[in-house]
Amino acid sequence: MNIILLGAPGAGKGTQAVRIAEKYKIPHISTGDIFRKNIKEGTLVGLKAKSYIDKGQLVPDEVVVEIVENRLKEADCKAGYLLDGFPRTLAQAEALSKITKIDAVINLDIDLKKLADRLTGRRICRDCGESYHISTYSDKACKKCGGEIYQRDDDNIATVNSRLQVYENQTKPLIEYYSSKNLLKNIDGGQDIDKVFEDIVNIL
Ligand code: ADP
Ligand code: AMP
Repeated sequence: MNIILLGAPGAGKGTQAVRIAEKYKIPHISTGDIFRKNIKEGTLVGLKAKSYIDKGQLVPDEVVVEIVENRLKEADCKAGYLLDGFPRTLAQAEALSKITKIDAVINLDIDLKKLADRLTGRRICRDCGESYHISTYSDKACKKCGGEIYQRDDDNIATVNSRLQVYENQTKPLIEYYSSKNLLKNIDGGQDIDKVFEDIVNIL
């Protein structure tokens, strides 16, 4: 099954993606993770993306689309995949529709007012990608795999505010886009993590 996880920054996409990928044995493709890896490795793509990411803006469509197109050609995507953080603009959604067929779009619906706290308090495991929140888990090592926990550079309040604005203007229209294609499944992302996952599994 080819799935898109839609939702504002902080809605819980990464948190749920780790669980979905594990249960359904499909690759979790996060464009944000791909950019962070490229930045760390100092590649040309990383260099191009960094200035946008630091400002909380979107990386240009053509750069992201090319990355996703190449990634979806890899063998592990044959039996399905989960896209997290892509598409983020109507142009990306249109480009994706020419590359592949999507079976379901899961939208994690949440009050945007909750997201600044979720994002500035977010901590992530460098090894397995598990997301934590500083208010409930402040250890330096991941509970699941023992990996190092870090805070993303763009999870500061100024960048977060810009990312939420960008979501509102450029990504939110995708809800209507996929709804009109009868692909959209809405889930209440304000529920606790296990309940959100239960709702996703029921839909899938
Ligand atoms: P996204 O990938 O959509 O940007 P994350 O999955 O990384 O969001 O979650 C952002 C923050 O919110 C993390 O600190 C995570 O632990 C927390 N979080 C995720 N889902 C929930 C939830 N259902 N309830 C409360 N906190 C959550
Ligand atoms: P994320 O990890 O999904 O929160 O993404 C982090 C940052 O990477 C975003 O704020 C954007 O700057 C960039 N990014 C990730 N995915 C995309 C995308 N599909 N289109 C444009 N920029 C993206």
